[in-house]
Amino acid sequence: MTITIEDMASFCKRKGFVYPTAEVYGGLSGFFDFGPAGVELKNNIKAAWWQSFVHGRQDIAGMDGSIITHPSVWKASGHVGGFADILVECGKCNARHRADHLVEDKLKIQTAGMAPDELSGLIRKNNLKCPKCGNAALGEPKAFNLMFETTVGPTKTATSTAYLRPETAQLMFADFRLIAENARLKLPFGIAQVGKAYRNEISPRDFLFRMREFELMEIEYFVHPGKYGDCPFIGEVEDHELYVYSRGMQKEGRDMAKMSVKDALQGHVIKTPWHAYWMATMHKWFIALGAKPDHFRIRQHVKDELSHYAFDTWDLEYQFPFGWKELQGFANRTDFDLTQHMKHSKADLSLHDEETKKKVIPHVICEPAQGVERAALVFLFDGYEHSRERENIVLHLHPKLAPIKAGIFPLVNKEPLIKKAKEIYAELSKEFHCAYDQSGTVGRRYARNDELGTPFCITVDFEGLEDGTVTIRDRDSTTQARVPVEGIRDTLRKLIEGASLEGVGKIVSGN
Ligand SMILES: [Zn+2]
Repeated sequence: MTITIEDMASFCKRKGFVYPTAEVYGGLSGFFDFGPAGVELKNNIKAAWWQSFVHGRQDIAGMDGSIITHPSVWKASGHVGGFADILVECGKCNARHRADHLVEDKLKIQTAGMAPDELSGLIRKNNLKCPKCGNAALGEPKAFNLMFETTVGPTKTATSTAYLRPETAQLMFADFRLIAENARLKLPFGIAQVGKAYRNEISPRDFLFRMREFELMEIEYFVHPGKYGDCPFIGEVEDHELYVYSRGMQKEGRDMAKMSVKDALQGHVIKTPWHAYWMATMHKWFIALGAKPDHFRIRQHVKDELSHYAFDTWDLEYQFPFGWKELQGFANRTDFDLTQHMKHSKADLSLHDEETKKKVIPHVICEPAQGVERAALVFLFDGYEHSRERENIVLHLHPKLAPIKAGIFPLVNKEPLIKKAKEIYAELSKEFHCAYDQSGTVGRRYARNDELGTPFCITVDFEGLEDGTVTIRDRDSTTQARVPVEGIRDTLRKLIEGASLEGVGKIVSGN
């Protein structure tokens, strides 16, 4: 049984993953602080992502753009004019509510892409009341821009207004030519960025799912406009299977269906191999880090929920306790953004096509973009288990994501066990985040580490002092192996990378 999002929030607070920001002052809605475990988890997720998509590939280069971005960027991108949610205000208590959330919560229908008057009609027809005070007099829905505004410099002038970026994409377009030249990229190629973004959400909710300050991991992937069908990597994912929920299936009221990438392409369910490649690749990324394959599906946007720039958009969705929700958007943005920035800046953002000797404006075939915090939620939910047998929670995080890689204990609180355990801790800490723990029974120490997701516990006992060994206990199976102290750093590295306990030592107990 899965736990609720509220249970997850209290678990995260108790174990030092996430706190409401400045809770001593009552918190601030939509903002969170990450504690000792949370900051490690987030850093590990970002590092794993960067390794997979930047260091691990020749066709993608990284960048890190400014958070307060030149206001012209947001005019060109359409955000100043159009990046808005629809809200209704209560005539009695003045509370503001997101019109689409109100309709979704009360009427249980999808509202994605609905126009303001459509939402307004539904609210009126069904006599929806203010959820805060119960008053029926909700005003006309109004558009509300989601960008946080700030003033640059000491005085407010006609040109001093700037915005905190609501997405990471735009500077990858504005800096496009420089990055392509500096990293010597040839089409097809991508630009990747990880960083904070800000949206003044009307009603932040569902813990880390909808926040006002969050962190994105995003790739803009550029292809030659004449080569949509030409994806050199498609062979890597052709046999990969995933749940597909196409526009047709949604319209005809059919269920999602599991299919291979090859079948989805041959059946024209997914139009371009590039789209299929990126969706499957991101699904595989989650699975490789321990997420459960069948908790994901890809869902095609029905026509009217397409963004203003998008040609064909799919979402990678995850089955949260509060329903299937977007984890990553895969928009085909065509040449919309580069063309917009060329128009507004008058700069040339085209590339020279060596084949035709002509200028070409690449198309963004896909922009795999996801929140770090949403990814963290996925790994926390899929890893969470209340073990009746052990009478504690076991957080089955992938060793690469676990905040602490190893807990190191003396079996009993006595010298010379303490000295040896501290030596091992010092050696392992040169490379890994570890924890030394000598308080309470060994059982209590195991339980504490299980709950934090620590994959390995290393215990120094008297037998080991004599023959130069320690025991290593595996979190998931509770199996223990006796391994040499000599080379313990290499041993732990192998275990984190997936070696079995049998592969590094002699099994001494467990299932
Ligand atoms: Zn009210």
